[in-house]
Amino acid sequence: QAKARGRNGFSFYAPSMTGEGVERLRLETFLRRSIEKEEIFLNYQPQVEIDTGRLIGVEALVRWNHPELGLIPPIRFIPLAEDTGFINQLGKWVLHEACRQMVRWQEAGLHVPKIAVNLSAKQFERGSIVNMVADILRDTGLEPQRLQLEVTESVIMNTGDAMVFINDLHSIGVALAIDDFGTGYSSLAYLKQLPVETLKIDRSFIKDISTDANDEAIAIAIIQLGKSMNLSVIAEGVETEEQAAFLLRHGCNLAQGYFYSRPLAADDMLTRWQK
Ligand code: C2E
Ligand code: MG
Ligand code: MG
Ligand code: MG
Repeated sequence: QAKARGRNGFSFYAPSMTGEGVERLRLETFLRRSIEKEEIFLNYQPQVEIDTGRLIGVEALVRWNHPELGLIPPIRFIPLAEDTGFINQLGKWVLHEACRQMVRWQEAGLHVPKIAVNLSAKQFERGSIVNMVADILRDTGLEPQRLQLEVTESVIMNTGDAMVFINDLHSIGVALAIDDFGTGYSSLAYLKQLPVETLKIDRSFIKDISTDANDEAIAIAIIQLGKSMNLSVIAEGVETEEQAAFLLRHGCNLAQGYFYSRPLAADDMLTRWQK
């Protein structure tokens, strides 16, 4: 891809650029056109109530299928999108598509109570996030209460105006979840001030929950914290019945993970959940 940059071919980049750098540049170039080429799509992972198995929502997870490179996981292209600024376009597309899909399911007779969409710190830096969300809700007709935005602790702690944006989002009726809770650095004072509805226990604590005493202690502490602050707590990455039973026993009745369902294509949500 570097070749396209000038008549001197690779000479401009060659001295300093490692194989990895070339690969990254190639990916970056492809990524920039991925939306218009319709290579980007969403999967939806069900969130359930442990005791009843009832569907309480889904998390939208972005996917990129490149014709030559195949399916590229978000951990590879989200950071790239963040570095290049493409995340703003991508994030907007994701949000729009997620809201549209909720309306499509509704029309097809499937009521999904809520959709959770991940936000990057970079999307807050842009400033106009609240207007974007409001526009998309108006355009799709989705009720704001049925949208939940997921941010990590570091987004809240490191984004200057995060408090302002989050309060603004709350004021238009959108719910907020803290993703990967327990892995980042967050102040409980912040948590108390923010209109957050949900804590998502990071899956690293769930993994060995019934064998590792530390993970067990952390998970229980998060569940208790959520309870005492009147927040709902959902466990990520629940893969076994044992983990689900543990959570239920300790007062966490919400879960998301392979034990219940892998992330699904939109149509598979219908097959799986439509009555
Ligand atoms: P996340 O938001 O914490 O999403 C949960 C991740 O855990 C997803 O990976 C999901 O497929 C995976 N997962 C769910 N259940 C299980 C389980 O039982 N076992 C295991 N091993 N994994 C499970 P995915 O889809 O690869 O996404 C990875 C991360 O990429 C997400 O973590 C999120 O940080 C980011 N991401 C995904 N979609 C978006 C998006 O639209 N926008 C932004 N900004 N970030 C996104
Ligand atoms: Mg998430
Ligand atoms: Mg997470
Ligand atoms: Mg994560």
